[in-house]
Amino acid sequence: MSVSVEPLRKILELEHKRGYVDSAVIGGLDRFLRNWAGQAIESITNPQLLGRFYKLRLVDSSYASLTKQQRKQWAHDVLHLLAELERETGEVKLPQKTPKAESAPATIRPSLAARRRAMESLDSPITVVTGISSSLASKFDRLGVKTIRDLLYFFPHRHLDYSQRKFISQLVEGEEQTIIAHVWQAQEIMLGGRRSTEAIVGDETGNVRVVWFNNPYLAKKLRTNSRVVISGRVGLFNGRHVFESPEWELPEEKELVHTGRLVPVYPLTRGLYPRQVRQLVKRVVDRWAGQLDDFLPPGLKQRCHLLDLSQAISQAHYPEDEALRARARVRLAFDELILLQLGVLSRKRDWQDGQPGNPVSVDRQMLGVFLNSLPFELTAAQHKVLQELLADLQKSRAMSRLLQGEVGSGKTVVAAAGLLAAAADGYQGAFMAPTEILAEQHFSTLCQLLSRVGSQEGEGYLRSYSGLLPRPLTVALLIGDITQVRKQGLQQRISDGDIDIAIGTHALIQKDVEFRRLGLLVVDEQHRFGVTQRSALRQKGFNPHVLVMTATPIPRTLALTLYGDLDLSVIDQLPPGRQAVRTKWLKAAQRESAYAFIRRQAASGRQAFIVCPFVEESEVIQAKAAVAEYERLSREVFPDLRMGLLHGRMPAVEKDKVMRRFRSGELDILVSTPVVEVGIDIPNATVMLVESADRFGLSQLHQFRGRVGRGQEQSYCMLLAEHPSDIGIQRLDLIEKIQDGFQLAEEDLKLRGPGEFFGTRQSGLPDLRMAKLSDVALLEVARAEAIRLFEQDRTLEKPEHHLLAKELARVWQQGTAEWS
Ligand code: ADP
Ligand code: MG
Repeated sequence: MSVSVEPLRKILELEHKRGYVDSAVIGGLDRFLRNWAGQAIESITNPQLLGRFYKLRLVDSSYASLTKQQRKQWAHDVLHLLAELERETGEVKLPQKTPKAESAPATIRPSLAARRRAMESLDSPITVVTGISSSLASKFDRLGVKTIRDLLYFFPHRHLDYSQRKFISQLVEGEEQTIIAHVWQAQEIMLGGRRSTEAIVGDETGNVRVVWFNNPYLAKKLRTNSRVVISGRVGLFNGRHVFESPEWELPEEKELVHTGRLVPVYPLTRGLYPRQVRQLVKRVVDRWAGQLDDFLPPGLKQRCHLLDLSQAISQAHYPEDEALRARARVRLAFDELILLQLGVLSRKRDWQDGQPGNPVSVDRQMLGVFLNSLPFELTAAQHKVLQELLADLQKSRAMSRLLQGEVGSGKTVVAAAGLLAAAADGYQGAFMAPTEILAEQHFSTLCQLLSRVGSQEGEGYLRSYSGLLPRPLTVALLIGDITQVRKQGLQQRISDGDIDIAIGTHALIQKDVEFRRLGLLVVDEQHRFGVTQRSALRQKGFNPHVLVMTATPIPRTLALTLYGDLDLSVIDQLPPGRQAVRTKWLKAAQRESAYAFIRRQAASGRQAFIVCPFVEESEVIQAKAAVAEYERLSREVFPDLRMGLLHGRMPAVEKDKVMRRFRSGELDILVSTPVVEVGIDIPNATVMLVESADRFGLSQLHQFRGRVGRGQEQSYCMLLAEHPSDIGIQRLDLIEKIQDGFQLAEEDLKLRGPGEFFGTRQSGLPDLRMAKLSDVALLEVARAEAIRLFEQDRTLEKPEHHLLAKELARVWQQGTAEWS
């Protein structure tokens, strides 16, 4: 077996121990299996075992959707199979259906065939390829391959290095090597009770034995005296070298596909076999790669030393050598990145050009009064960001700015200053929070700040302040909690332009609310403020400046990729006097002392968060796990303390109620699933306990930690990890040492790679097949080139950009409309 069964066995054993909750592997068992099975299947040649392999759905498993009982049974069966696979140390190739020879069927007259050819294009279905039947096509379809173009872009996940050609006398045990030899003798033999093939092959330096278990058919193909290329690992049997089930190929005139070179390993699915896929891809690459339009302008290609597209495609599949394979990847990765950059830039261009923005004339004197009234001095970083914000507000192009800043770095006050500036010039502002409780928190913060400058009138959801503007400044909170009548009243006043600043959830920009003169929209703690939302606003005739704020530190490369359409501001400094949260990771044996610690903190009036173990599953299962943990803790560990529970399946009203009780000190401990909202300010909470901490990414752990340490008291973050993996240990060590979120995010990116950094899909990250987000330099180049292109030709209308514009349209229309 070239793929070890050991990891899967370990995982299944862990699953068993944990009660089949699909928690044994980050990202879930199904995802792990897709990778593992794709590789394992390459080395299973016993048809019976292969059959069972498929039957157990190891290739396209749906473990996540099984019941626990079913999972148990399934895991049991898989463990059995693994044991057998291991026993079956040798393998024999499956009989492969070789695709039909490439020639038009006799029934089709040449002219017809020619005509059909003429109509074929890169976007034709793959069935136009000789040898791909519609049933075969449906198998490719499962892998997302529908057209010729898809097949060209269907890249191997790795290559086997069979390029090391050796003479038989030079063969070394245990290494992957290739020989070109004559067949002296090939015959069917019985091996372990199975019909198999044995051959003796030789070159001028010696002979070697080759066996293929379970594959008697080969004996006939390997005719005496024919030449054969053999690639594989050399083993030892009775003190002599032997190839066991190696790749083989009769060289004839053809280029080698399976042996003697860098051989691609493709993702497979049921009914697709490695040799078959290799041959088909080779055929398609040879015939079609040259037809791809190279959409990058020649000047750019030269500047960046990029391969031509068709060469890159063919080298990505069948590289001549390592160096070309690497260059092919660079070219293809560059394509992905520059198309991504061009896409976001053109989106930005569209919303900037389409409609004039709302230039704000900034009243610096008023802002000075406001800032002077604050109980603190702005940090240098806050100042800098405020200046960036004000500069944008004064422009007649709508601002799109992302403000990043650690938890507690003071983003709110900067946003408040922006909202005031807009209000002073007669605009309205909207402040949007992800949850009602956060909206409430912002409302009360803002009111507190404003009440320092002047007198207040009104209470509850609508207040107005005098002293700052020549007229009273009105602030309103719009949340679901208030009665319909009052809500309508507020909506009316918003549309009359009576309300200067409206605070609420995303309901704020929904259909019922009509602003009279919306100038600035602040969106808090939301990664993405979507195109849809923006265009909804624009349909109402607004093109407000938009400031999106987030406390999730995002490494610059990722930010450029995800938010290339936004300008970036960073508050990279905390207000003075903040205490670091003491962070410690604990082993299983220290659980009791962690509980004791929480108890002591509670006794002195502090509060604690407990985050339940990570289960990547449906919300339902997460919720169940949290309920169970909550009950266990309430019954067995903290029967005397006041406990609350929070999970994603609770109705919003319930959630808010629990949060409110926690905030007001009615609860000592809040047990929650990992997904609950961030950003809540509970200064009295001093302990954060995270279960299975080794399973979370660094950024996420940092987020958890950010929920404490907001008050005067020393705060603590305890990370429980029972059996951390090596990488888990690395992460835990890092988070113990590093307090800075951005530094952690960079480390996280290095450790995990970008895909997992956010969970690609949710983040709207497009499918990057070749590009890695650790390709920092390449990304910077792609971005610089994209900007340069836009400067030369903002709408990509010049003839030399025609192909590029076409490719851009193609890529962006393909299911990527939701990159937002
Ligand atoms: P976040 O960036 O996480 O949204 P907030 O805006 O909620 O942070 O600010 C966190 C706390 O820090 C608030 O209580 C706020 O009043 C306070 N604060 C903000 N700026 C400063 C500053 N420059 N000096 C001291 N305290 C500040
Ligand atoms: Mg905040």
